[in-house]
Amino acid sequence: MGLYEDLLQNHNAKLIAGGAAQNTARGAQYILPENSVVYIGCVGKDKYGDILRETCKKAGVHTEYRIDEVQPTGKCGVIITGHNRSMVTHLAAANEYKLDHLKQPHIWSLVEKAQVYYVGGYHLTVSVPAILALAEEAAGKNKPFVFSLSAPFIPQFFKDQLDSVIPYVDYLIGNETEALAYSESHGWGLSDIAEIAKKLTTLEKKNTQRSRVVIITQGTLPTVTAVAGANGAVETKEYPVHEIPKEKINDTNGAGDAFAGGFVAGIVQGKSLEQSIDLGQWLASLSIQELGPSFPFPKQTY
Ligand code: ADP
Ligand code: MG
Ligand code: MG
Repeated sequence: MGLYEDLLQNHNAKLIAGGAAQNTARGAQYILPENSVVYIGCVGKDKYGDILRETCKKAGVHTEYRIDEVQPTGKCGVIITGHNRSMVTHLAAANEYKLDHLKQPHIWSLVEKAQVYYVGGYHLTVSVPAILALAEEAAGKNKPFVFSLSAPFIPQFFKDQLDSVIPYVDYLIGNETEALAYSESHGWGLSDIAEIAKKLTTLEKKNTQRSRVVIITQGTLPTVTAVAGANGAVETKEYPVHEIPKEKINDTNGAGDAFAGGFVAGIVQGKSLEQSIDLGQWLASLSIQELGPSFPFPKQTY
């Protein structure tokens, strides 16, 4: 627990707004017209919560935080070694989100007005009922529900929680290590990313008006997609990443969050799968040239 103060006091650490799904929210708003994105989560009563609120405000993201009276705002200590990162997280208030907050009339009316939903897999460790409330709203009104696997430990250690949400997922996003962890924890015996993506599309689905789309990113390797067709056939595809020169990469932390932001912005705008993936890859390439999960200002356009 002493790590965070040590980093700040003795190692000139920079304070950067994070939160995986919050990064994605800021990313999507970077592309979309003003007032497009609402972010819901939980912070503490401290300066770190204020920083998150301010950063979202600057990015044009409307926030509705539950403010926990006891726990401090969650934080993540990041140490960058070359192009790689080591991270230690203290979830604190991020672990205290409650369904009651979501169900308040002034919050739930925002939920009902929303056209597309995005939930980060990390939230499976916090409030599955809150996820399912959003998922039911999406499925019931045939609105897209996008979900990210977030980290290998989610399919490993939160398997049952994940299995309860998967039937609602229209767009499933993950990286290669998360796809492999899913296959392993479900005893599939598959190690080929395209095969795993394919099988993920065939899992139970509540909203039968949308076929599931699975998107697996692999760092600089091609992004793999699988789409379930009407006749039961599954189509897989690969989308190469536009490499950027190593010397231009600042910090790959949050690449996947940024990808999801660009991808969701594409879905919101009714773009094709191919265009949405390209938007995701474009936004990720901008983000990794910044420090942390940030986006360049003045704004660049796609
Ligand atoms: P995560 O951050 O979840 O591990 P990935 O590493 O798969 O996610 O990165 C997500 C996306 O970010 C990739 O599909 C790619 O578009 C982009 N990206 C990541 N690393 C690089 C890189 N070194 N050069 C260019 N694009 C990258
Ligand atoms: Mg990666
Ligand atoms: Mg990721």
